[in-house]
Amino acid sequence: MESPSLAPPPAADEARCQSHPDQAVLGTCTRCGTFFCALDRETVNDKDYCTTCATRPEVDYLEAFRLKHWGKRDSWAWFVGFSALIYLAAGARLLMREGLRDSGLMVGLISLAGGTVGVCFWLGLPFARLALCFVPIVAMVTSAFTVGPGAISSGIWPIIVTLSIYQNTRNKLFFKEEVSREALEKAWNLYANNAVARTGFLLGLVGLLAFPLAPVALLCSIIGLRRVDPTATPPIGRKGQAIAGIVLGAVSTLGWTAFWVVTRLNQFGQAH
Ligand SMILES: [Zn+2]
Ligand SMILES: [Zn+2]
Repeated sequence: MESPSLAPPPAADEARCQSHPDQAVLGTCTRCGTFFCALDRETVNDKDYCTTCATRPEVDYLEAFRLKHWGKRDSWAWFVGFSALIYLAAGARLLMREGLRDSGLMVGLISLAGGTVGVCFWLGLPFARLALCFVPIVAMVTSAFTVGPGAISSGIWPIIVTLSIYQNTRNKLFFKEEVSREALEKAWNLYANNAVARTGFLLGLVGLLAFPLAPVALLCSIIGLRRVDPTATPPIGRKGQAIAGIVLGAVSTLGWTAFWVVTRLNQFGQAH
């Protein structure tokens, strides 16, 4: 008769799983060190865990990231929502001013239709995700007929923007679309991985123009660099950005301080 268990029954001297006494121990959990057998081993990002640890947000951080943004409006959704209001207002104004006459009627109606799609997009209605891609195409074709062929070149950019929104991982999560683990990993890296270092680097760029931000950039980048740990779960990266942020922050802090000292000395020299 065949044994119903997955692994062959362990020999008397073999270590056995606490939860499944008929199963041999296969290894220990990467996080808590508990023994697991074939029945309670969970593999997440190529590491083995017990069933309890595998569900923890820091272990399955991509799943935690997915759940955090699932159905939640991203910045693109807000951008489309605000643009929709402008389209609706412009369409209504055009119809009232031009009346129901030829080209004004056409452009006005298309503005209203585009604005309505944008509002549906902001609301997260599933059809609006694809429909939004057609709004700038229809607008471009219409203006090519009413304004002239010159309108085609300026109509290209809105098409590129809507196509990149369609491909955007966080926007897909807002619409509750399934995304691949690779796409999740990329989005996690962009938005969640060592956010302090990312902020420090961006502030470092702005700090070149605005003095008060330079020391803040320096501080954020130092904290960010200290956090870097590629072996941690989840891995903490952005070492390069943290170093660049420290350089930018230090250079602009020194530069602005020197500028202040020189200005003061000049004032002092003029007063005497
Ligand atoms: Zn564990
Ligand atoms: Zn077990």
